[in-house]
Amino acid sequence: MLLLEPFGATDAGKVRRNNEDALLVGEGRDETLFAVADGIGGFEAGEEASRIAIEVLNELEPGSPFQEAVREANRRILAAGRGDERLSGMGTTVVAVRFGGTTERPVAEVAHVGDSRAYLLRGGSLRPVTEDHSLVAELVRSGDLTRAQAADHPQKNLITRALGAEEEVEVDTAVLPVEAGDRILLCSDGLTDMVSEDGISEILAESAGDPEGAARRLLSAALDAGGTDNVTVVVVDVKEHVAPPGEERSGTRELPTVAPPRGAPGGAPPGQTSGQSSVRTPTRARKGEARGVSAPPAVATRRKRRPRRLGALGKFVRGLAAVLVVVVALTPVYLWGGSRYFFGFEDGEVVAYRGLPYAPLGVELNEEWRRTGVEESDVKGPYRDPIDDHKLYTREQAERVLGDLGN
Ligand code: MN
Repeated sequence: MLLLEPFGATDAGKVRRNNEDALLVGEGRDETLFAVADGIGGFEAGEEASRIAIEVLNELEPGSPFQEAVREANRRILAAGRGDERLSGMGTTVVAVRFGGTTERPVAEVAHVGDSRAYLLRGGSLRPVTEDHSLVAELVRSGDLTRAQAADHPQKNLITRALGAEEEVEVDTAVLPVEAGDRILLCSDGLTDMVSEDGISEILAESAGDPEGAARRLLSAALDAGGTDNVTVVVVDVKEHVAPPGEERSGTRELPTVAPPRGAPGGAPPGQTSGQSSVRTPTRARKGEARGVSAPPAVATRRKRRPRRLGALGKFVRGLAAVLVVVVALTPVYLWGGSRYFFGFEDGEVVAYRGLPYAPLGVELNEEWRRTGVEESDVKGPYRDPIDDHKLYTREQAERVLGDLGN
């Protein structure tokens, strides 16, 4: 039987004051479930989108369909965006892993949308488990860019799939057999944009057996490299479970004990302003709770026992997360292909397009959406420049423009 030892940490970074990333470190109904979400959208919208995604996963019952939960998160984000103008156009990436399978064949199920990633470290080598849904990743797949070129590409943050973008979202999933000694890393692009895969691999190898040390060092490395984006990492170690004599019989799940990490959430990496970082181990003990799983679980979780009681600190972590929701005026807004709209003039007529108004390396990122029948000369003054500049709109905004465009 295997046992999981996870540790998660997040930090707003050195440039942005708000943290739009969110994470789940086994504190949901399914304690073998871990996730990272990276919110997209100005003001508080990004935080809201990633929060909703994590909330939905948090509620996922053990054994229920994974992809469906991600689709449900998509629907809830869209619904929240429709209900509130300030949240319209918000979205989030998500990468999640859930452990299960049988005692003979334990597996990790991975689901993702966007450019938050999962990696597997096994035998000292780091393998990507996910493929980014991003413009540069498409260009790598088509052979137009190398992986190294993609890492430095100015449009590397342009993602082509996100939760909250479309009615239906395509979720990529993978099932990996796992074994003792494996380490799974989930992270937002705030890590991978700042630290090379070689650098990540080195840190993971040097901190073998210590998920907390690994998570903290990865976070520090991203911050030391500039920390221009929010950084989130979740490290999950898969270990052999050695039951002390008489502790339990085979086939029973080890009941998790939960304790806060050493130091407070503000126990940030060296050089880091206290109060900006938060670390997360699961915040709820579930001792004695009956589980609705018929097959004996192959994987149990264990968190480090620490002297301090968990309740108070758990609340503190949540309190801190709330404090981190700070409005900043200049939040970078990411774009994703299918969900953006713009206008242009074609043979004197205004045409609406879906996608993005450029074609890097010859790859068209847009398609004609509507022909408006409105002549260039009939366009109302305030709309001329935005059409010339290919200003981007959400679908709702584009519909509004369509209805109001002509004289
Ligand atoms: Mn990010």
